[in-house]
Amino acid sequence: MRAKILIVNLLLFPAASLNWIICVFCSIIFLYTYHAVINYHYGGITIKINKRISKLMKIRCSQCGECCCDPVIEVTHHDIRRLVKHTGISADRLIRLHAKSDFDSVDDSDLIKFSYGNRKISLRKNKNGACLFLSEDRQCTAYEARPMSCRIFPIDVFLDDENKASDFELSDVIRDKFIKCKYHYGKSSSYKSFRLKAIQSGNETASYWGKIKQWNRRSEKGGKSDFLNFMGFKVPE
Ligand code: SF4
Ligand code: SF4
Repeated sequence: MRAKILIVNLLLFPAASLNWIICVFCSIIFLYTYHAVINYHYGGITIKINKRISKLMKIRCSQCGECCCDPVIEVTHHDIRRLVKHTGISADRLIRLHAKSDFDSVDDSDLIKFSYGNRKISLRKNKNGACLFLSEDRQCTAYEARPMSCRIFPIDVFLDDENKASDFELSDVIRDKFIKCKYHYGKSSSYKSFRLKAIQSGNETASYWGKIKQWNRRSEKGGKSDFLNFMGFKVPE
């Protein structure tokens, strides 16, 4: 009898050990998968997909056009290039310059140095204050080539020290009620595609400010045409 028990124990012990190994292995797989679901990895960056970000992904634009009437729609030279190609309008006619006094507060490091003073660049407006691409029925007539800031709005993308997207938040101009955005919540959009847009926006913004720093360091300042030529557009002097 004792011999039988010993044999049974000898048979069960490896089986029990195997169960433990399987159990530990499954736990590791579970924890890894959980981590991968909760944290989205892309380009070496990790953002926690928490409830707040999941909610942001459900924001749906109702195309009210309010944001297209914002006084300053920021553009980079990448945005301008796409708009020139899509619309055939020259870079010179696509942008306008804002003096520092147009803003409540603006950091000098955010301004471009021209021969006539420091300025900021934005997309040109119509006389009614709306973006030149906003149609009467409040549609974007340059939708395929709209600036990155329009593609991402109403979400703000925060960049880290390396200009990589590190967090998202509902735009402060909406939270501060400067723009009465009539967004609603709907089916969640793809986090991956939004994140790709955020990364593209971060890269383009970084390259834009890299060029601006080069321009600002030049001893001889110029006007708008000089600046656009410097940024790679062929504009008559
Ligand atoms: S480019 Fe289009 S989406 Fe952007 S502000 Fe102008 S009309 Fe609006
Ligand atoms: S203000 Fe908001 S809802 Fe209106 S067009 Fe802009 S993003 Fe869409």
